[in-house]
Amino acid sequence: MEVEKARCECCGFTEECTPAYIAAVRAEYLGRWVCGLCAEAVGDEIRREDGTLTTAEALDRHVAFARAPRARPRKAAAAAPDDLVAAVARLLRRCLDSPPASPAAPAPPQGRKVADAADA
Ligand SMILES: [Zn+2]
Repeated sequence: MEVEKARCECCGFTEECTPAYIAAVRAEYLGRWVCGLCAEAVGDEIRREDGTLTTAEALDRHVAFARAPRARPRKAAAAAPDDLVAAVARLLRRCLDSPPASPAAPAPPQGRKVADAADA
């Protein structure tokens, strides 16, 4: 099957598509090629505005959003890895400290008799 590399104008994602698919997307998005994810986001944008937004406006809006400096979610993104590492470390430590409870753990009943006798 003949495929071409198409690059999303919004997020820069490249995808291998058939020329027919590329042409169809271009026709729908004013000559621009957008990946499926961005196409969906653009569609959402239009729906959110009750159809008053043109495809071009929605595209521009999404491009601006996609290209905006990723400062907004940065704080959360920076915090997440540490939390994740800590969580994994905690999990590992817990596994190492206490091996899964096994049925062999309870003390053998024989020992108890001896202890009782010693107490009495
Ligand atoms: Zn995209």
